[in-house]
Amino acid sequence: MMRKSILLLTVDCLRADHVGFMGYGRATTPFLDALAAESFVFPAAIVAGAPTYYSFPAILASRYPLALGRDVLGLAPGEPTLASVLKQAGYATASFGAANPYISSRFGYELGFDTFRDFLKDELTAPFDRKHADPQAHAVPVSGWMSRLNRAIQKVRPSLGPLRLAYDELYFQYCQRVTPAAESLDALRRFPAAEIIVDHACNWLASVGDKPFFLWLHLMDPHAPYCPKEQALRLMECDPVTPFRVRYLNSFWNRSDIGPRRLAWHRDEVMNLYDAGIRWVDEQTRRLIETLRLSKKWDDCIFAFTADHGEEFLDHGGRFHPPSRLSEELIRVPLLVRVPGRAGNSKKNGVKGVFSMLHLAPTLLEAAQLLAPAAFQGRSYWPQMYAAENFDAIAISESVAGCTNPLHPENRLRPRVLSVREARFKLSLHFDTKRDELYDLEADPGENAPLAPAAQKPVRRHLLEIAYLHLQRARDERLRAQARLHELRLEWEKPANRASPVISQPAH
Ligand SMILES: [Zn+2]
Repeated sequence: MMRKSILLLTVDCLRADHVGFMGYGRATTPFLDALAAESFVFPAAIVAGAPTYYSFPAILASRYPLALGRDVLGLAPGEPTLASVLKQAGYATASFGAANPYISSRFGYELGFDTFRDFLKDELTAPFDRKHADPQAHAVPVSGWMSRLNRAIQKVRPSLGPLRLAYDELYFQYCQRVTPAAESLDALRRFPAAEIIVDHACNWLASVGDKPFFLWLHLMDPHAPYCPKEQALRLMECDPVTPFRVRYLNSFWNRSDIGPRRLAWHRDEVMNLYDAGIRWVDEQTRRLIETLRLSKKWDDCIFAFTADHGEEFLDHGGRFHPPSRLSEELIRVPLLVRVPGRAGNSKKNGVKGVFSMLHLAPTLLEAAQLLAPAAFQGRSYWPQMYAAENFDAIAISESVAGCTNPLHPENRLRPRVLSVREARFKLSLHFDTKRDELYDLEADPGENAPLAPAAQKPVRRHLLEIAYLHLQRARDERLRAQARLHELRLEWEKPANRASPVISQPAH
């Protein structure tokens, strides 16, 4: 019997509630919404950590991100992954990722892939590479007298009182106006857009012949800076927006000198750009799947569409996706799984309950009739999906608070944040401030007010016990040693005096 192929499409920063098939009101995903009718849709898919570097160990290797120690980032050499299992089973394997440095070969993600392209050091995408390597690439060029004046004002700035705010505002507006205009949205974009990644994927698919394949694509279109394709804005029927306005909005949204109330002035406009990024993902997914249909590969292809984490738009006063909280806008992601032969049965395919992304890899393997390795910490939910049973699952998410740049190893050792989420209640533990907060997501889906300490005591105790058992879990010392050795080797191989690569993004 012919093995089923697997297509895994992950999208950076895609929060669940901005996706049509998850209930969003805007048409961000019309193609995927139609596909959802013949797929399993998971209403509460929860990532095992956020951002990117705390999420992908679970998606690809079914392992909690901090399970090998907080200092270990990425996958360990020799760690079994979805890709390595499928490669061993005779699959052709390939990965094309839109230049996210945290899922590059530097962090072990090429494991098990015959073809691995992360678009970080590529001639074709050299502009993206330069923008990563040069932290000044996005800095505003300021003329000589202005920078001298600015330096002088910076010295007295703390004593300016209320004038300081007026100065900050004037300086921000000035910088926006003196920066040379970008000629197009494409010139502003920091990551390769979805059509570039899909083009490469289609070329590769044409080369695999009749072999079963595993193809993983990671798209960055909804990631900040929010610079969608102009076609996507037209598809969303947005009012025309100039490159100047797009850059202005992104610079405004990135300001650290103003609070949430001021930022909220442009929140909807910024979100429009984010939504258009999602629409482009949907449009290119349609193109990819049409290619699979034309080449008759779609009939034997399992398809999983998901995200590595969400994105905050001031829901709790913050922006982007720094690892300081594990609130729903950051950990709840869309998840759609289409399995051929189970199509056209959408009512029965409705999945209920919480699903941790830790279980995705073993579930996909069983759907393809393959065994998951014993090292996977998650387990397959394919039998429950197949029988349309409800899940009675718990999802644990963990990150290191404030570790926005894990390339500095000392950042990785900060205290962790941990959440234990079941269908109704969610316990969040902050180890830095020794706080624990229990939320009733049915009564308070926005997590605005934690329950009083005396409320729901049995629930709190139960979730605390789960957190305790999770932290007591035995560590795989062999994998940990391999990961540490790999890291040391990278340090040794680094030419003397060469600084580690600078990544200019605030967080991934
Ligand atoms: Zn990410």
